Amino acid sequence: MGSTASARNGTWRNWGGTVSVRPAREVAPASVDELAAAVRRAAEDGLPVKAVGTGHSFTSIAATDGLLIRPQLLTGIRDIDRAAGTVTVEAGTPLKRLNVALAREGLSLTNMGDIMEQTVSGAISTGTHGTGRDSASVAAQIRGLELVTADGSVLTCSEKENPDVFAAARIGLGALGIITAVTFAVEPVFLLTAREEPMPFDRVCAEFDQLHAENEHFEFYWFPHTGNTNTKRNNRSAGPERPVHPLRGWVDDELLSNGAFQVANWVGRAVPAGIPAIARISSRALSARTYTDIPYKVFTSPRRVRFVEMEYAVPREALVETLRELKAMVDRSPLRISFPVEVRTAPADDITLSTASGRDSAYVAVHMFKGTPYQGYFTAAERIFTAHEGRPHWGKIHTRDAEYFSRVYPRFGEFTALRDRLDPERRFRNDYLRRVLGA
Ligand SMILES: Cc1cc2nc3c(=O)[nH]c(=O)nc-3n(C[C@H](O)[C@H](O)[C@H](O)COP(=O)(O)OP(=O)(O)OC[C@H]3O[C@@H](n4cnc5c(N)ncnc54)[C@H](O)[C@@H]3O)c2cc1C
Repeated sequence: MGSTASARNGTWRNWGGTVSVRPAREVAPASVDELAAAVRRAAEDGLPVKAVGTGHSFTSIAATDGLLIRPQLLTGIRDIDRAAGTVTVEAGTPLKRLNVALAREGLSLTNMGDIMEQTVSGAISTGTHGTGRDSASVAAQIRGLELVTADGSVLTCSEKENPDVFAAARIGLGALGIITAVTFAVEPVFLLTAREEPMPFDRVCAEFDQLHAENEHFEFYWFPHTGNTNTKRNNRSAGPERPVHPLRGWVDDELLSNGAFQVANWVGRAVPAGIPAIARISSRALSARTYTDIPYKVFTSPRRVRFVEMEYAVPREALVETLRELKAMVDRSPLRISFPVEVRTAPADDITLSTASGRDSAYVAVHMFKGTPYQGYFTAAERIFTAHEGRPHWGKIHTRDAEYFSRVYPRFGEFTALRDRLDPERRFRNDYLRRVLGA
């Protein structure tokens, strides 16, 4: 927890430094019973309640001035069911701990995001995703959930049990209850071969459909002010295991992607006019490499340079047009952007408020170095994303409200009706939920 969200003098701050709040009180329950009792006590005192993970959301989705429930004592694996291919974990378990424990058992999740610092419950609640042609977000890999609801009772759900709750609560925005345990589908650990390769922006755009169709996991980073991208293709492999050489890993993943990149961002913040030249150098710093390793070592990497981020999911067929518009906007503006734009995909899923709910999606993420004004860039980018009926990541900066969401999510009313039933008094309210859900 110390390296992510911080709590000094009773103030809680998120990783990106965009949110700080003083909760009225904090608890770190060590059991479901303790957690349920804390929710009941808060109700008696008329306090709103919020559970936090590691504070990796850039929005104020986790903020509360009421009771803050911390995750650190609700961690670990509860059960592994090899016959069913599932593992049940306590809600506060960091993804890192889950990945390492699963690998030790010869198991793995199928797909994951870029980092593994977050808690399982925090990650799923905002729809955290990686990139995939056939496999979707972390929440889409859930087979069951256990929640403490507003009246302090325990509710379990799956495809068979309370299926209406299961449909929504996998990406519940913290609005439906406090998750206490998550059951994930897992599979025998497998190997992925990663091929990382620079590629011109125009070529990636021209060949995007093919690159997506031919690879299980395709993603790329475009460097604003340049026509350069770095692409990454991950595909299952029969082996042998060929991890990145430790020295090359240190040079690429620590020195260039974090250390030198941090320095480049400091220089860019001090002298914005130099950013295009820095971008041309950064975009050429990483050369092609191929390696084969277990999933979490291929999917995730350390992100030490602090930033703020906006990410929208657009219909996959609108991706190339969206990107060309974004590039044209940056090219004709005075903006100076030192962070690459990240592009990923997900297949349609069946979760009510998943950014990929009911539609094949492509994600476009824009970032700014922490401490640099981001509003101008994000506002211009958001105008492009929303023109394509984009859906913002629930944990990343956006300005959308319930009226917008009721248009871009066909099942929006299903979610709010369930919330009315499970939390009629809005025990789990905060300002963010009021804006995005409308009450
Ligand atoms: C460096 C960095 C890299 C990132 N990479 C990716 C990425 O690759 N893909 C992606 O999609 N996102 C990514 N994100 C976003 C991040 O995954 C999400 O914001 C995620 O929700 C953060 O998880 P957390 O544990 O920090 O939760 P928090 O940010 O602390 O909380 C998120 C939400 O979960 C709720 N919550 C937490 N615990 C519970 C619980 N027990 N019950 C009910 N609700 C709960 C909170 O109330 C809040 O609503 C990244 C963020 C950062 C800072």
